Amino acid sequence: RSSSLSVSPILTNLQTNCATPLPVLRHVADAMADEMRAGLAVDGGSDLKMILSYVNTLPTGNEKGLFYALDLGGTNFRVLRVQLGGKNELVIDTEFEQMSIPQELMFGTSEDLFDFIASGLAIFVEKESGRFSLPGGRKREIGFTFSFPVKQNSIDSGILIKWTKGFAVSGTVGKDVVACLNEAMERRGLDMQVSALVNDTVGTLAGARYWDGDVMVAVILGTGTNACYVERIDAIPKLQGQGQVPISGSTIINTERGAFSNGLPLTDFDKDMDAASINPGEQIFEKTISGMYLGEIVRRVLVKMAEAGALFGEYIPGKLSTPFVLRHVTPDLCAMQQDNSNDLEAVGSILSKISGDQVQTNLSTRKIVVEVCDTIVKRGGRLAGAGIVGILQKMEQDSEGLIYGKRTVVAMDGGLYEHYPQYRKYLQDAVTELLGSEISKNVIIEHSKDGSGIGAALLAAANSKYA
Ligand code: ADP
Repeated sequence: RSSSLSVSPILTNLQTNCATPLPVLRHVADAMADEMRAGLAVDGGSDLKMILSYVNTLPTGNEKGLFYALDLGGTNFRVLRVQLGGKNELVIDTEFEQMSIPQELMFGTSEDLFDFIASGLAIFVEKESGRFSLPGGRKREIGFTFSFPVKQNSIDSGILIKWTKGFAVSGTVGKDVVACLNEAMERRGLDMQVSALVNDTVGTLAGARYWDGDVMVAVILGTGTNACYVERIDAIPKLQGQGQVPISGSTIINTERGAFSNGLPLTDFDKDMDAASINPGEQIFEKTISGMYLGEIVRRVLVKMAEAGALFGEYIPGKLSTPFVLRHVTPDLCAMQQDNSNDLEAVGSILSKISGDQVQTNLSTRKIVVEVCDTIVKRGGRLAGAGIVGILQKMEQDSEGLIYGKRTVVAMDGGLYEHYPQYRKYLQDAVTELLGSEISKNVIIEHSKDGSGIGAALLAAANSKYA
């Protein structure tokens, strides 16, 4: 019934349009480096916002004392405490808790959301055991990871530009989110203070750097994507003449690299998906490489194949025709790619699951579906790798010898990188092809799981009000 003949032109076209040979990767890496420079030159100079983190002091390992972290970035929020022992003892003890944010609070008022957070934090603080200790006369300090676009003016303040990721809370945009939290803590009678406000990439970099001094870049590859890196202050023209920053030294720049769009190999499937998204024209790199979108692109290809009568005969499963039904289905693509059996039985049953029907597929159809997944995941992984090389290249060009020829670590976090072996391999292939085997041997991409929570606490310590 299913004829691979009528499918193969669609697949062949897809493979052609998604191809990422070395010249394409090189163009993406070069363009990433150029856009970074443009974004550092002036605000609004590039797709890349190149946001100042005001993190000028990275953890060294000498931090001591009790610090808290609060992480708000999606449907959950996490609280954590850590007792730091300094040079020899490092992390003496740590405890954390995760709470889900009730749906209605995502559409409620700013006061309600921050009251909920302050209350969760207060309950967690009340349970602090004797294993944790705070010197007399000090308030408990917080590193606040807040992963929404924020315009920072100092390490401990930042104005919310907009809510994303399904949040539509009234009354926060345009306000300092640290002030919002402080007011809620006051209403709750909780006497703590925020010493660092950080993005999750910045937290990841700080957390990884604590253990390894060669960490220079952090990348998130999960639902979305972002990256940050250590930059020289004198290489940030848009900073010159601003009073509140030091004139020398380094800082962390949050690239907001998901917004990159220059020279990507895009297909009609990508363009249609973008047009149907809640933010058309925005976050194009993110839409090509990150977990929220890979499944949706595959779905669009499969629908086209099904319409050509080539997957399930004349039948087009209803569920497959619903946009974004595969948003949370990247794990299914991944599972299909792990099926090494001769008859690809698992591929067949996953196809039934995502189609919402017991669809009958023969082996050649299943093979084609796996090829479609592989094509999209290969493009995503390789472009993600090229984006990382772009950052390294920019750093090396500005400070010769900083990266190439010595050990450099890229700290990586996020469910997509963690769980998708093919994606990981394609990413590494692209890095190796671009840098060559000699240099790439010294560029270590290291999974740093959930480092951002402890990273935020470490940044609170490194930026302590009592230092
Ligand atoms: P977030 O980015 O929202 O903070 P994560 O870092 O956990 O959360 O990433 C979640 C994303 O990771 C999902 O959207 C999905 O694309 C991807 N992912 C999770 N589990 C798997 C899996 N088993 N295989 C492939 N991808 C996965």
